[in-house]
Amino acid sequence: MNSRFGASGGSSNLSNVLQSIKKVNTSNDALRQERQRLVYNPSTRRFEQVTPAARPEGALDVTQGDLGWGVGPPSAPRIVISPEQVPFRKAPGFCRRVRATVWDHGDVYAIGGYGHEREETVSASICIMNNAGPGSREAVGYADDQMRVLLRGEECDGNARHAEGSVKIEGAWVRADVQFLPGKDALFSRFGGIIETDALDESRVCIVGIGSIGSGVTVELAKAGVTHFILLDDDRLEPGNVSRHVSPISHTGRCKTKSVADLLRDKNPFIHVVTMEMKADWPTVDALRETVRSSDIVVGGLDNHEGRMVLNRVCLDEGKCLLLPGMRRRAYAGQILVVRPGTGPCYGCLIAASPESVRDQEVSSERQARGLGYTDKAVPVEPGLSNDVAPVVTMTTKLVIQHLLQDRATKLRSLDADLIAPLYLWLNRREQDSPFAALSPMGYGVDEMSVLRWYGLPLKRHPSCPCCGDVAKAGPELHTPSAVSALTGEGE
Ligand SMILES: [Zn+2]
Repeated sequence: MNSRFGASGGSSNLSNVLQSIKKVNTSNDALRQERQRLVYNPSTRRFEQVTPAARPEGALDVTQGDLGWGVGPPSAPRIVISPEQVPFRKAPGFCRRVRATVWDHGDVYAIGGYGHEREETVSASICIMNNAGPGSREAVGYADDQMRVLLRGEECDGNARHAEGSVKIEGAWVRADVQFLPGKDALFSRFGGIIETDALDESRVCIVGIGSIGSGVTVELAKAGVTHFILLDDDRLEPGNVSRHVSPISHTGRCKTKSVADLLRDKNPFIHVVTMEMKADWPTVDALRETVRSSDIVVGGLDNHEGRMVLNRVCLDEGKCLLLPGMRRRAYAGQILVVRPGTGPCYGCLIAASPESVRDQEVSSERQARGLGYTDKAVPVEPGLSNDVAPVVTMTTKLVIQHLLQDRATKLRSLDADLIAPLYLWLNRREQDSPFAALSPMGYGVDEMSVLRWYGLPLKRHPSCPCCGDVAKAGPELHTPSAVSALTGEGE
């Protein structure tokens, strides 16, 4: 219980807080009114703040609202309720006891399953009255309520017109505006015309590695309407991650999986998310296999070869599409490998065909640097900018959605002809000591390869791939970490 609003902290504490809020609000109201006194002064051709006595001749009255300036917060507190909190088909006199989250020092009270549990909550009631009139709010609810919503019995349908809200400030009830959040169907209704609202409802996406790419893809998919996620990572959020990760600094120390799961629930309360705090490696391969089997597609936002190799093996075995997005050093470039088991190349094929493209990877964390420190020379941590990672997050999200909707008629079908490559490359800049240092500048009208564009690259299944080629059938030892080291030159 938070001491600021907690019952255990004593009512005087709460009263002090609310009193100070009221004082601030009162002075804000006065300030707002003062600022609203504006005129357009034709002689100076300027908008001016004036007092009634100093009004210039021929001045035109305007308000800041007319100009779209400084429209402050609503004068009454606002109560926001998720629809599942509305007690349908209950008799008048019924009261539901709930906790309300208090935002912005009493500006907004939120009730319901939207968002995760927060500490700053107060006691509240949602009650049904047939004739909600003056005095009703005193006659219902519970003695320790700090907030009440009265619904009219016949019409308690989640419509704010039939609701009366009030908030207790310094022992007195004050009217509050009530707003109902949309139901599940309405949350993503604006996509109508592109994809059906429920098109991605049943899809299950497994994200292995919840770093800056994995977390970004997860949140973008949630915004597109994907509602079933499995998030797998054993890493915790460090202060150094925050500049690129979707999680805020207040989540430092939390498991990345759990932090992102909470962000997803805040975005869409109907999301089902399972978190697995474990590393993707050979010892965990059985658990990984179960998880992959229950998913429609897998995204491997991993920073190590072993994890990618294990995931590659499991997805090949289970016949699941796997996307392996990654950044090159300091995010000068990004690439996405699309593994379509049985029909295209896999991660082993990429290593065999282009080991340098796999070795030239971004080192974005201390843990990853330690994993790569196979010589006496320390590997520096050199993460790229978040906006250089963003194109890879966006493209990976597109590829996932395209895969999930492959059997459905949507406006996105035309992209099927575009997104056929097994490997995609994006260049953020012409990095020295990279194969792209000598590219012509992008300029305009230049029909050559340049930075800041996506390229689909050809990549064939490699006959000597230890994962999907003929050699792979020779024995399981070829899938082991030592086989990866031999291919990539990376230490175990
Ligand atoms: Zn292969």
